[in-house]
Amino acid sequence: MKIAILPGDGIGTEIVEQAVRVLGVLDLRLETETALVGGAAYEAHGHPLPDSTLKLAKAADAILFGAVGDWKYDKLERALRPEQAILGLRKHLGLFANFRPALCYEQLTHASSLKPELVAGLDILIIRELTGDIYFGQPRGRRTAVDGHFPGAEEAFDTMRYSRPEIERIAHVAFQAARKRSKKVTSVDKANVLETFQFWKDVVTEVHAQYPDVELEHMYVDNAAMQLVRAPKKFDVVVTGNMFGDILSDEAAMLTGSIGMLPSASLDKAGKGLYEPSHGSAPDIAGKGVANPLATILSAAMMLRFSLNRPAAADRIEHAVKAVLAAGLRTPDIWSEGTTKVGTREMGDAVVAAVAGKTIATKTKS
Ligand code: NAD
Repeated sequence: MKIAILPGDGIGTEIVEQAVRVLGVLDLRLETETALVGGAAYEAHGHPLPDSTLKLAKAADAILFGAVGDWKYDKLERALRPEQAILGLRKHLGLFANFRPALCYEQLTHASSLKPELVAGLDILIIRELTGDIYFGQPRGRRTAVDGHFPGAEEAFDTMRYSRPEIERIAHVAFQAARKRSKKVTSVDKANVLETFQFWKDVVTEVHAQYPDVELEHMYVDNAAMQLVRAPKKFDVVVTGNMFGDILSDEAAMLTGSIGMLPSASLDKAGKGLYEPSHGSAPDIAGKGVANPLATILSAAMMLRFSLNRPAAADRIEHAVKAVLAAGLRTPDIWSEGTTKVGTREMGDAVVAAVAGKTIATKTKS
């Protein structure tokens, strides 16, 4: 089994290093190869997704990705910005289904911005369509307006679009995932205003006819954003488009305590995937050794389960993460009074020790 390791920029390198160490103690005979991506690849090769990196990603059985981006690249033309690497990988590899589980660990109910009783036991799965919608629709650009409120003024525009097969395949993914959980899907749209999302709603409803055992509800995105902070446990599987999913999954991240806890998987139709934390490269804390590596470590666990068919190894990692949290270790983003503050490397050390079945050392409390 070959894994492409793409650490990327900012905290990407720090957190991926810890996930690779955790994979290393599992005795799985994994072959890994590392390549540059994002700003780091732009600096070295003049492009955020060089051909050599794309080739490696295509040849691998799975990809473990850190994060890309830095404010210093904001002035580059769009095609050369680091974030284009992740969009390019999704597009070239056909990674259309993004799984973002939002799970609130028992020990972290107090780290959430919501009241503990609202998030205790939270376990929802956001499924975001990843290759369509306004992020990829053409045409897009800047021009001089010929109509609208200000004819003759400079304007910018994007195109929101979804085809029937794109909606059908993500709807099937959501209903099938729901069958393995509580058999309930909430499809989030903006059908009251957008043609694209009236179509989305119609097609999801049609696909639902093939899954009579699964309950389907439709919800407008503004209401979904509100319900996620009002009564998040009412959701089970949430399926939505690319842009709404981008926003709602970050909102869901905060329910769990920190975006540093949230793994994700982006899968193609054959189950090959790219695994990455849900957060970005966090330039504000990069290089300080304080980033939470758990989202990346948990992404590696998802990789073992979804693409490499090693569920027992995935369980070992997930149990190790729980053990480390139970031992009171916390990176600053999830720290609270009475727990032990640790850095990225120490958190990695603790998970490595727990996976190896060793007692977790806790240091001085701070
Ligand atoms: P971000 O997710 O990088 O950071 C948001 C906030 O969360 C920051 O305060 C950061 O310090 C904190 N944070 C994120 N991950 C953390 C972790 N593991 N541990 C502790 N704290 C963590 O989002 P942003 O600041 O909006 O974007 C920064 C850069 O990342 C931008 O260039 C953006 O385009 C890029 N980005 C990349 C991806 C990706 O690679 N898939 C996703 C989102 C954003």
